[in-house]
Amino acid sequence: MNLIDLKNDWIKEYSLPMMIAGPCSAESESQMLETARRIKETNVQVPIYRAGIWKPRTKPNGFEGVGVIGLNWLKNVKQEYGFKTATEVANVHHVDAALKADIDILWIGARSTVNPFTVQEIAEALRGTQKTVLVKNPVNPDLALWIGALERLIGQGIYNLGVIHRGFSTYQKTKYRNNPNWQIALDFKSQFPNIPMLIDPSHICGNRTGLASITQEALNVGYQGAIIESHCNPDEAWSDASQQITPEVLAELIFNLKMRSPELGSFDGEMGRHRTLISDLDFQLIELLSQRMKISEKIGQLKKENDIAIFQPDRWKIISEYAVQKANETGMSQSFIEKVFKAIHEESIDVQNNIMIDR
Ligand code: PEP
Ligand code: MN
Repeated sequence: MNLIDLKNDWIKEYSLPMMIAGPCSAESESQMLETARRIKETNVQVPIYRAGIWKPRTKPNGFEGVGVIGLNWLKNVKQEYGFKTATEVANVHHVDAALKADIDILWIGARSTVNPFTVQEIAEALRGTQKTVLVKNPVNPDLALWIGALERLIGQGIYNLGVIHRGFSTYQKTKYRNNPNWQIALDFKSQFPNIPMLIDPSHICGNRTGLASITQEALNVGYQGAIIESHCNPDEAWSDASQQITPEVLAELIFNLKMRSPELGSFDGEMGRHRTLISDLDFQLIELLSQRMKISEKIGQLKKENDIAIFQPDRWKIISEYAVQKANETGMSQSFIEKVFKAIHEESIDVQNNIMIDR
């Protein structure tokens, strides 16, 4: 069996978008039950309740999860309110305890996915399980590592698989806690379109305000669902307080989501025409870029013959200012055009360098 051939029938059991919600961490039995009760009472579709039992915290000597007792609380949540349950497993002891407690869905956290030894250990401990196993992206932007983790699971006969996109660490803080880097997740999706992909807006945003739009963006590009942190008293949460939302706010978020169908359906004809036009324009873009680079080669030759430096700041200023002006005139995003032109300029410098140093 390989990743391409996976049937992924497990997701058919759920209506889409498939939602997993619950606190970042299990803190007490009453916190777990109250959060579950309030999610249930909102009547939105949340079939699966999440809670971290063992917590990977950045610094030591803080709260690191309640441990196995929390598994009993998850069981109670299941019994009282009928949720399926989900938790993170990061080593063989976690796996044994979670399987013994009959937790329905296990996920491998972002800090574990980076480590092939850890993933292998977890995969072996889970060998042959029918449980659904979800793999979060690794904290570093490495698609192969993410795929490798799934291959290790499949290698142990674990076939009910899915992935969670929770964003990637950056040194410089941006508006996100973890940068979504959509391209990596979309590359994953295009290689393995049949593997269910969920968005984790909580760990991408790190705050409450961005959750709804990130979740909707993910559904817009074809994700199957989301895992969102919800707590009965978010401000007092023992971990990730700033990104957790009450069950009622969660319900409103879910209520406003629009699921997007993976099939084109009746739009086929119109969509087909648009796609033909896009492909044609893409072709023209590539043709134009190729012509532009050929001119750069000629310029490189002239600069070489006359011992002139490749980078001419004044010229670059004119080019980039003109591009920005045109972007504004045509209503395109300025930062997008800046990115495109920086990339073109960088390539042009490279092309000229190839001429100068005869590479
Ligand atoms: C979590 O889901 O609570 C968690 C620890 O997530 P991540 O592994 O994405 O940091
Ligand atoms: Mn968390």
